[in-house]
Amino acid sequence: MTLVEVKNLVKHFPIRKGLLSRVVGQVKAVDGVSFKVNAGETLGLVGESGCGKTTAGRTLLRLIPPTAGEVFYEGKDVMKMGGAEMRAMRRKMQIIFQDPYSSLNPRMTVEDIIGEALIIHGLATRKERRGIVQDLLERCGLSASYIGRYPHEFSGGQRQRVGIARALALKPKFIVCDEAVSALDVSIQAQVLNLLMDIQQEFGIAYLFIAHDLSVVEHISHRVAVMYLGRIAETATSKELYANPLHPYTRALLSAVPVPNPKARRERIILEGDVPSPINPPSGCTFHTRCWLAEDRCKTEVPTLRKVEGEHWVSCHLVDIEKKALVKDGRVLPVLQS
Ligand code: SF4
Repeated sequence: MTLVEVKNLVKHFPIRKGLLSRVVGQVKAVDGVSFKVNAGETLGLVGESGCGKTTAGRTLLRLIPPTAGEVFYEGKDVMKMGGAEMRAMRRKMQIIFQDPYSSLNPRMTVEDIIGEALIIHGLATRKERRGIVQDLLERCGLSASYIGRYPHEFSGGQRQRVGIARALALKPKFIVCDEAVSALDVSIQAQVLNLLMDIQQEFGIAYLFIAHDLSVVEHISHRVAVMYLGRIAETATSKELYANPLHPYTRALLSAVPVPNPKARRERIILEGDVPSPINPPSGCTFHTRCWLAEDRCKTEVPTLRKVEGEHWVSCHLVDIEKKALVKDGRVLPVLQS
């Protein structure tokens, strides 16, 4: 069942200059993104820094206003909700931030940080709050005795667990995990990922899991969407995307994922240059300035997101839908092997 549906979401940030703050351009951070998240599933949203994935996550939660587009939660248009309705909606849609250092108020105790929302939403008295926060701490692998501690008394992994407990306090059905494990050491990342998966199984929460690391996303996601310069390049079930990536950008990202076998060598696709500026994105396919397969039409024709099969959609002129393959000059380009 679809829980959250995003339709043609657009977020442009105006660039202002001069004494009169005239608008002289737009940063096209998100440029027409659509996806669905089903109840109890994880959709991974991946791409390089600056591709717009964090902006998409925050815009769909209305933490920043969209330029255009619609977001539906259980069929209700989130963007059209008034104050009271939106406050109620905030209980159902939460966020875990990337940086466990800056996302927790250093002057508040853990009890206040996790329990603040319970008081704001009138879900518990101050007395009841203590017990609820202690339960949440234990559920997130922390001792209930930490309730009076301040954020600086925790390690990075523990702080992120506090952030998760805070997100869970209102019993949400949907959480945006915005690079939630990116700032953690690899061993701690695994613990926090496992915690998120346990919580999902227990409470049936859906995640939009935003990350730039494809190996992390593979571990946790049922489906994956790959973003490039504010648009979706490819989306598929996790299994399908890793077995048969079709978009050249997805193939390049996957070629950089380390292989566990030390003897195995994977052919690497090295992308030249940085992601172009979203102020003035390239014409046609926005990836053409870095794509080693680009043809003349890629510079002028914008590829549309086309269905390959099932949940697999891709936005590239060279994908042959019937063959379900990337084809250049009549030759099928095989997936890189390890
Ligand atoms: Fe590369 Fe052209 Fe496909 Fe874009 S449309 S990914 S430039 S081959």
